[in-house]
Amino acid sequence: MTAACSSGKRNMTPEQALQELMQGNARFVSAAPARIASPETRVIDGQAPFAAILGCSDARVPLELIFNRGFNDLFVVRVAGNIIGPNELASLQYAALHLRVPLILVLGHTFCGAITAALAPKEERTKEPAAIQRLLRQIDPAIAQVDASVPLAERVAGAVTANAQRIVKRLKSERTLQSLVQDEKLLIAGAVYDLHSGRVTLLAE
Ligand SMILES: [Zn+2]
Repeated sequence: MTAACSSGKRNMTPEQALQELMQGNARFVSAAPARIASPETRVIDGQAPFAAILGCSDARVPLELIFNRGFNDLFVVRVAGNIIGPNELASLQYAALHLRVPLILVLGHTFCGAITAALAPKEERTKEPAAIQRLLRQIDPAIAQVDASVPLAERVAGAVTANAQRIVKRLKSERTLQSLVQDEKLLIAGAVYDLHSGRVTLLAE
């Protein structure tokens, strides 16, 4: 994909933003020290992230750390199962339309507890509070895409991927984001973080 247009306060193309993120993850995998911002960096005038990330709340997936980034780099939305409801969508729209981030990354991760919970038998799920059941129902369309006859670990992995891909598709169909994507000012991509290796792998569409 060619992208002559750059966008955002950092004046980066979508491809440059993606490259920045992936290079940061490579630094994290090679155990580079975490980035600590200086006081001046923390109070700079206004937000200037170069990417927005929709990630899972899982404590083992701290986004700034796994991408080796610091203050004011990433606009982060985290929710169990990295699902997208009205509030998550609004936050990402804000990042794209007002902060003009050139990249939205939907990041699932291996061994996701929310995905695993969504795969649990119905009688288990109905024991959960109503709000948790509502959240799990939002993962169901991804579960439906996975072969129910394979072992649970495979189903979890398949559903993690399907869930992220589905949300990317959903975001791409949002009218407010579509024109930015068409103008090559915004890239919307999916990826999975591997808890064991620390590596982020981009997903095919
Ligand atoms: Zn998770």
